[in-house]
Amino acid sequence: MPKCPYCSHDTFTTSDFNLDDDTYDLIVICCTKCDSIISVIPPYNVGKTLGMLTDAFLGLKTVLKSSSVVNDLQKKQTSQSH
Ligand SMILES: [Zn+2]
Repeated sequence: MPKCPYCSHDTFTTSDFNLDDDTYDLIVICCTKCDSIISVIPPYNVGKTLGMLTDAFLGLKTVLKSSSVVNDLQKKQTSQSH
């Protein structure tokens, strides 16, 4: 079980955290006994967000490949370069 490096307590909580200029939204993981900050994390799941963006990109790529508008545009570009 994880333990606080300062007091060896073994329960933690999260708390919103702002720096002075409010540029960053962050969440801190704190020890529930001594309130020491154990870690700072972004308030969103980077891996999940990246997976959603990849799915959206691949879906858009499929739509564009099947679109006659894109095919016509590619034909025009090909004919202009020759
Ligand atoms: Zn502690």
